Amino acid sequence: MDDTQKMTYFMRAYPNKKEAMEHFKKPSEYDIKMLRVLPKIYKHYETHKNRTSIVKIDDNEARDLIYKVHGIGNKNTNKVKETKSKKEVVPKKETIITCTATKMNGEICGCKVKPNMKFCGRHCLK
Ligand SMILES: [Zn+2]
Repeated sequence: MDDTQKMTYFMRAYPNKKEAMEHFKKPSEYDIKMLRVLPKIYKHYETHKNRTSIVKIDDNEARDLIYKVHGIGNKNTNKVKETKSKKEVVPKKETIITCTATKMNGEICGCKVKPNMKFCGRHCLK
């Protein structure tokens, strides 16, 4: 904790600059305790900020995940309560491009394409 950080604490903890300055010069037992704890809290914020695993998902994706996790189908939409879970949901975000070739029976193939190719192994144009 440098003086700037300390001062930030005193300014936040006390209603005016005069009181803050008084405490800054002569910290109370409580102040000392707080100053000892604060660096830990700051450190915690830091790790939170540096976290890179947070993935933003849109509403539909979130809903699908909730359904999946709770094993509920779309029919029960009204019964689904909002999950309060603070756990991070980290879905694997892969862009899977599927083969758009049409099969003999008229259906779209839909297989996973080969890397850097437009079609799957079966429909690859050689
Ligand atoms: Zn294909």
